[in-house]
Amino acid sequence: MRRLFTLGVAAAASVLSLSLISAPAQADAGGNLTQTQSRALYEKINALLPADARSEVAALGDRLGLTEDSTAQDVIDAVIDPADYKCGDTPATAYVQSLTAGLTQDDLLNLAVILIYDPVDYDALLFPEPAASRHFGLDGEYTTRLQRRFAGLKGFWDIKSSGIELVPVHGSTLLDTTRVARALKAELPTLTDDVAAQLADAFRQIADQDKFDHGDFPLFTFNAFAFSAKGEPVPGVGTVTDKILVGDGVLEGMKTLGLDDIAPDAILSHEFGHHVQYQDGLDTATTLTGPEASRRLELMADTFGSYYLTHLRGGHVGIKRVQDFVQMFYDLGDCQFTNVSHHGTPDQRRKAAEFGAVNALLPATRVLPSRTLDARFEKALPKIVAPDASSMTVADVS
Ligand SMILES: [Zn+2]
Repeated sequence: MRRLFTLGVAAAASVLSLSLISAPAQADAGGNLTQTQSRALYEKINALLPADARSEVAALGDRLGLTEDSTAQDVIDAVIDPADYKCGDTPATAYVQSLTAGLTQDDLLNLAVILIYDPVDYDALLFPEPAASRHFGLDGEYTTRLQRRFAGLKGFWDIKSSGIELVPVHGSTLLDTTRVARALKAELPTLTDDVAAQLADAFRQIADQDKFDHGDFPLFTFNAFAFSAKGEPVPGVGTVTDKILVGDGVLEGMKTLGLDDIAPDAILSHEFGHHVQYQDGLDTATTLTGPEASRRLELMADTFGSYYLTHLRGGHVGIKRVQDFVQMFYDLGDCQFTNVSHHGTPDQRRKAAEFGAVNALLPATRVLPSRTLDARFEKALPKIVAPDASSMTVADVS
């Protein structure tokens, strides 16, 4: 599974390492827990979880090929310790800061627990709603648009895509203790039904506050994923279909940032690019390792997404929207060079997206085989990652 953006376990863990600031408990007249109640829930959850729960869930993530995302991790790091944040601020950073600005230390701890055990994503991945009842966005406002775009992507690329499902991730799942208990038991098979139910109820109480929008808090679902088991059953889980998951939170975030016009399409197109990689074997066809390997895959997905979006036979979006699209990729670039899930710097992502748009004109009327586009990408990669602000042009296509 590759994530375009999510709140990584490491980020959540760094939230957990925050020293607790004690303050007098305050009653809240509205729909929020008191500080004492919040703290008690945090302690209850930790007491209920098995001692090795963190490592067990991390191991499951490894088995599923779930990689941490560093984009939102950067953002969260910036929230936690701005002095340590070396990469320039982006609108996405400011947006996340605005969401967390009013949260107490206890709230951040509880948020981190939800993100570490991540039952909403595991629920969507392992127990998706039937296709007919899926809706995208808090009010279903993206359903038609994303489903049409998904159908367009399936027809555009030369891979076997009929089995790939498009699945939404809703933070309101946290209010459904049956679903959350089921997801937690899938993640932690040693949990008893009773403990899973108690944990699910604690998660529900945390999410069901005004400050967390009663489950709709965007950071609960600030992510998009491409998942493929590559035809193999997932150990301990069974058959899991190939998927693209799209969280309500990332759609809300992009809307707030004024990128609503293009971002949902760009996110989906990028994630579909990861499925092209899986099926063409491009994810393993490299001698790169660590952050450079991850960066190559993310920048390639940016190029593939941009190629589809700008191509006459694909999204065929106009130049202004392409520029918005490039700006969006700039906003999401991360600067955590040592992280294994490094996505590329803003400049690198901008160049990767530009490179996709340039290729969409060469030729303009025919869609290239995905492997041909990859061959062009591999040759251009040194220039895309070069530490300068140059633009990608026709001369970079070979
Ligand atoms: Zn990606």
